[in-house]
Formats: sequence, C-alpha cells, structure tokens
Amino acid sequence: MPNSANLKKPNFVGVDLGGTNIKVGVLDDAGKTLSYVTTPTLVERGPEDAMKRMAEAVLQAVEKAGLTPADVARVGLGSPGTLDIPSGSLVRPSNLPGWNFFPIRDKLAEYSGLPVTFAHDGPAAAFAEYWVGAGQGEEGLILLTLGTGVGCGIVLNGHVWNGTHSHGGEAGHNLIDTSENARWCKCGQRGHLEAYASATGVANRTIEYVEAEFKTSLTERVRARKRDDEIPKMVFEEAEAGDEVALRIVKETARYLSHGMIALIHTIDPSCILIGGAMTFGGKTTATGRIFLETIEQETRSRIFLHLAERLRIDYAVMGNDAGYVGAAGLARQDWEEAQAAE
Ligand SMILES: [Zn+2]
Repeated sequence: MPNSANLKKPNFVGVDLGGTNIKVGVLDDAGKTLSYVTTPTLVERGPEDAMKRMAEAVLQAVEKAGLTPADVARVGLGSPGTLDIPSGSLVRPSNLPGWNFFPIRDKLAEYSGLPVTFAHDGPAAAFAEYWVGAGQGEEGLILLTLGTGVGCGIVLNGHVWNGTHSHGGEAGHNLIDTSENARWCKCGQRGHLEAYASATGVANRTIEYVEAEFKTSLTERVRARKRDDEIPKMVFEEAEAGDEVALRIVKETARYLSHGMIALIHTIDPSCILIGGAMTFGGKTTATGRIFLETIEQETRSRIFLHLAERLRIDYAVMGNDAGYVGAAGLARQDWEEAQAAE
C-alpha cells in the first residue's frame, strides 16, 4: 500500500454504492471533486463481480484526475444498509438482494490496493453537507433524504453517529402511525415514516386519490403511467400548475415528514435538520418546493418545545446526487487525519 503518511497534499476517493449505480469521485483535501466515474451496479451478478468493477472505477477515476494511487491517502466507501461498520460487512441490504454478509470493505481494499473507510450511505451524505454543503459549522446535524425510501444521517460534534450496531441512520423506520390499518413499510412493519413520506409513499397515496375519483388534473397522467416512480414528478408538476389535490399531497407529505422529525428533535436536540434526496418538489427554486418546506417548518415548530422551535434551523440540503461519494471521501479524510494526529 502507498505510504500515505508522506502525502503533503492528500487526495481522497469517495465511492457511493447504490442499487442501480456505483458513483466514484476523487476529491482534494478541501472537498473539491477532481474527477468522477460511474458504473452500473449490476446487482444480479453478485458482490464479487461488482467489487472488482468498483476497484477498476476507483483506479480509472484516479487516472482521470491526473493522479496515481500513490497520491491517494484513503478511499471512503458508502453503502446502503443494513450493514456492520466495524467488520466492514453488509448485513441484509434491502436493495442489494443476495449480497448479505459480504465483506465489501476488505474486498475493495484488496482489489484497489488502497486503504478503505466504510460508511452507511445516509450518514455519509449527512457528512458531505457538514463538510462542504448546507450544514457547515452545525454542532448537531440531521439529514433526511426523500427518495424511494427515507434515508437519515446524523453528525454530532463533527462525527457521524452510526449507532451501537451500525443501524443509527434508520429514522425512515420511525413509527408515525400506530393504527391497526397503518400503511405497510417495505421492511415488513406497519406505520413507519418511509411508508408515508418517501417517493413510494407519495405514489401510493396519489393513486388512492385518483382511484377515489377526486377531481384532479393528475387523473389522466397517473392512469397513463408506465411506472409508479413517475408519479412524484407528476404531483410536483400539477402542484406547480395549481392543482389542489396535488398541492394537498405535497402538504400531507410535509406533515408526515414532520411527525418523523419531532421524535428525532426531542431525542437528539440538533442545531439543524436538512431535507434532501430526489423528492424535494424543486426545492427553494419553485413555489411548490417553498410550500413543502414552509409546511414542514409549521408542522414541526408548532409541535416541539418552544425553546427548540425558536432555535432549530430547517432547510434544504445542497449536495444532491454528489452527497454520497463526497461524504464517503470526507469520512476517509477524517480517518486519515485522525491517524496522522495519533502518530
Ligand atoms: Zn420500515
């Protein structure tokens, strides 16, 4: 392995393993992306094959940045859960079927020849916001990401909180509906936040409005859909065009999300909560995105201790699709710096 202790200007590689793609970026010490490579995950070919291609992508990205492996201090690998960080292994990742208990950290180190830091993707994304994004300087930062599921990452005093069993970023499975007929979550339990506030939850709720024959411009579009995951974008577009049912779905999503946030706020007492992921209804640049955030703020602040309501910052994340690999590189950098300081 390269003697990273001698690096004057260390570079770091961040890898974001997803169910569809593997994203790889090379970053400098200040968090600037120097090069970027992506390759399909091809889950069905199994983890051994994917780890070889991931290592190739890492080395390609290093070359593309005009560097050699000797210029890289450390690699960070962010993976979807569930996983076991101390042992560097997956546990039962729901969007990597058949990869259970695979030792992905050590396999990447073996195939790339570089030392690897292992992280949960939710906390890694939160760390990206803390390092170079919308959460810089925040003592207690929580990132909630809205996509197929609801992801979460917690950064406390500059360090990600992984939990005792590496399951610390699973707030998508906080209980928000205790009724007997609560919605099913894809984890197999009822009433979890993710079943309501994720893109999947929005799609399911929208289909119910259409089937109940509410008067909405969504009806034709939803009925003509090819896939359910097209629906959140339709809801956004129709809300922008002034459709009341679409806007109601956006506001309901905000309310459900705030119900999940309230438990987190009273448990962690964060300085800041950021909302990110693929489904933010356009964020601050659109009327719908502003209404979504305003509704989250109202619903949350009206139900938490006044002292917190007056101080907590709630905002959109800014790192977008780059959050996973940037945060993984940032965590690799933190491990490297702490090792340097210990010498
Ligand atoms: Zn669940």
